[in-house]
Amino acid sequence: MATPTKDPSLETTNSMLATTLALFDTAFERLQLDEGIAAIMRQTEVEMSVTVPITGDDGRIMTFKGYRIQHSSARGPSKGGIRYHPDVDIDEVRALAMLMTLKCAGVNIPFGGAKGGICVNPAQLSQHELERLTRRFAKMIAPILGGKRDIPAPDMNTNEQTMAWFMDEISSIQGYYSPEITTGKPVILGGSEGRTEATGRGVAIATIELLRKLGRDPKETRVVVQGYGNVGYYAANILATEHGCTIIAVSDVSDAIYNPRGLDLAAINAHVAHSPGHLLKGYAGDVDHITNAELLTLETDVLIPAAIENQITVKNADQIKAGIIVEGANGPTTFEGDAILRERGIHVVPDILANAGGVIVSYFEWVQDLQFYFWDIDEVRTQLYKKMSRGFEQAWAVAIERGLDFRSAVYLLAVQRVADAIQKRGFVSSGS
Ligand code: NAD
Repeated sequence: MATPTKDPSLETTNSMLATTLALFDTAFERLQLDEGIAAIMRQTEVEMSVTVPITGDDGRIMTFKGYRIQHSSARGPSKGGIRYHPDVDIDEVRALAMLMTLKCAGVNIPFGGAKGGICVNPAQLSQHELERLTRRFAKMIAPILGGKRDIPAPDMNTNEQTMAWFMDEISSIQGYYSPEITTGKPVILGGSEGRTEATGRGVAIATIELLRKLGRDPKETRVVVQGYGNVGYYAANILATEHGCTIIAVSDVSDAIYNPRGLDLAAINAHVAHSPGHLLKGYAGDVDHITNAELLTLETDVLIPAAIENQITVKNADQIKAGIIVEGANGPTTFEGDAILRERGIHVVPDILANAGGVIVSYFEWVQDLQFYFWDIDEVRTQLYKKMSRGFEQAWAVAIERGLDFRSAVYLLAVQRVADAIQKRGFVSSGS
């Protein structure tokens, strides 16, 4: 039984990796997990670090650092997005790969976790340069990818076009059309119906499941959403139109807008559809314009942080007035901020469960690609609801049984599933 084994190679100053390892360690201790298995899970299985050269449109050679990291393949092929961002660094990619392992285990889909990225500001490259970068990167990491090995998806600053290039490059290496090599592709190339809305829809399902557990009526529920991008947009609109919640504030990088009687989402959507950069800035409806910091501490029933990481911290956790937080973004709450929320009895649906809708529909895309048989939108939504609500129920049962807060219960369930897979496969005891 275990005191968690610390691997000095993973001692880090990266706050996301530190938080992730601390969450792992807490789960290992609670589970009294075998020390060796804890040591396996604290480390990444495969790390590939590459320098990607491309020729720019002006003939100049440029180089970029890229990574693909597989944390675990114990429960199936590893799965995770690829991001293009100037802040991409190896520790952040490691942390995100670990979180993917737990996310897939938490909702019980047969994948392990991976993540990848290139340290680049994509806004400074032309479309042709981005295509060359993507194809070269795909070729360089191809030896560790595969539909039954490791399956990339879009993430920050990558999209269905990026995945189409990726799939085309790997297919050309293999010599045959292999749509299952990536997910998040255009529907015409084997993408799934419902993938775009999937994460936001999953956030909405998690919110409604929690309201139901607490005996609350969605129609009497006020919701604040930070981040009106892919996740926040669909979460807000689905909660309002399908469940009757009142959305009282939304924000993005350009503005935060608030009306305690409820926002006119149709008018906001029409504004965003036509505004430069699809931003809230310039919206002239009946709202107060506030700051993103003020938005987080508004008087509301539900707060959905769906923008970026590290938004709820020691600095503001004691001022949050929402009784429920549903984490649409990855890592919106720091480890210390979370301790304050827990002490204050605020209900939190953690990121690895709340935003798992995206990877669930990626799993459906992979299943459809392997079978060359495609589902309609109703089928995707029905199956997504089943997976999300079952994941929620199982974690809720662990929380009740072990007297844990919900975040701890989700991590415990996920870590237990990965540990069981490692043990049953005999990674440790086969001796071969
Ligand atoms: P997105 O780029 O579509 O939207 C992000 C939104 O956050 C935008 O409205 C942006 O303006 C806003 N934003 C950025 N910086 C901000 C700041 N400092 N303050 C306030 N708002 C800010 O991204 P997305 O796909 O919606 O992802 C949002 C979060 O959800 C990220 O943490 C992402 O990792 C996570 N996530 C996304 C998916 C997915 O399928 N898209 C899946 C799982 C997790």
